[in-house]
Amino acid sequence: MREPNIDVIHPQTSAAAFGVAGDTAYGAVAPPLYLSSTYEFEGYDKPRRYDYGRAGNPTRDLLADALATLEGGAGAVITSSGMAALDLLIGRLRADDLVIAPHDCYGGTMRLLKARADRGHCSVLFVDQSDEAQVAQGLSRSPSLVLIETPSNPLLRIVDIAALAAKAHDAGAAVAVDNTFLTPAIQKPIMLGADYVIHSTTKFLNGHSDVIGGAVIAAEPARADELRHWATVVGSAGAPFDSWLTMRGLRTLFARMPLHQANAMAVAQYLNAHPAVSAVYYPGLVSHPGHDIASSQQAGFGAMVSFELAGGVAAVRQFVANVRYFTLAESLGGVESLVAHPATMTHADMGEEARTAAGIGEGLLRLSVGIEAEANLLAGLGTGLAACM
Ligand code: PLP
Repeated sequence: MREPNIDVIHPQTSAAAFGVAGDTAYGAVAPPLYLSSTYEFEGYDKPRRYDYGRAGNPTRDLLADALATLEGGAGAVITSSGMAALDLLIGRLRADDLVIAPHDCYGGTMRLLKARADRGHCSVLFVDQSDEAQVAQGLSRSPSLVLIETPSNPLLRIVDIAALAAKAHDAGAAVAVDNTFLTPAIQKPIMLGADYVIHSTTKFLNGHSDVIGGAVIAAEPARADELRHWATVVGSAGAPFDSWLTMRGLRTLFARMPLHQANAMAVAQYLNAHPAVSAVYYPGLVSHPGHDIASSQQAGFGAMVSFELAGGVAAVRQFVANVRYFTLAESLGGVESLVAHPATMTHADMGEEARTAAGIGEGLLRLSVGIEAEANLLAGLGTGLAACM
């Protein structure tokens, strides 16, 4: 038997052990939490490694290094939210920069891009990224940045990252992928050609619904340096305690994701066979139009499942009042299961016209499938669906 190479550090090991037993002061096994906002200089004009907390913090930097390692990037910036992570990229653009974004992205992402464009800070073009003609037309306008969200929120549409990144690079654009729904345990956009990866660490990376945070990981060192500088200029840094909690969540990422995904697959199959449900959106189903691309670029199908109730909004009211084990709440990625109604919750601010264009109807519900027992989750859904019939 060949001995495993001790120097090959697997992502699962990085997630579980990053920063563990790294404390030189007391030998603490769990990484210490540094809350200090400022640091003593050694003397005149002699700052130490850290001088001021907006520019750098040891706890936050540990999380940045862990995420850069897991995503295969050169460096990362930890921000106060997922939106702050997106704005770290968008806010540094200039008036003549064009962003190509998906027409079915997270509602907050669309709101941010529109707000920046309305104020003349950049231009934005929303396209259906599965429509080659629309993508080609957008790229012919020489964009600076192509933003990809795959799987998309809430319809779980899949974009071929490698194919779109190659086209975007040919057109001279940088490529950023929002990897919030999958995490690097399942998808590694930088390996597929992305220049940046964006996360709402609020979600699966932290995994316990007790932190709002974000991250941008850059593939190249120069891009990482530029982002770090810009984060110091605009002051978008995440709090040390949030970083510490996120590190704690990250340690179990590779243990949590298989449970999430197995439950999500069971939920998708259950919904698919139920008469009260008219459509199920889950890339793990062979019938999903993005199934083949998802199978090739992802190491799993994630834990987000959306579905359409045949009875429309009246059925939605009945379902959310009667479903068990799925809490009616925004957000996703925690160990507990949640249900959201995108049209009135996460995607309400998009406006009806944009929602209709993106295919987000009144009867659509989005599930974040947690790690509870499958039998309870299916029975809980069954109670909600029975009330819609
Ligand atoms: N990106 C995606 C795909 C999201 O779903 C969200 C939030 O739901 C965000 C970004 C924004 O993250 P945050 O809520 O941490 O600002």
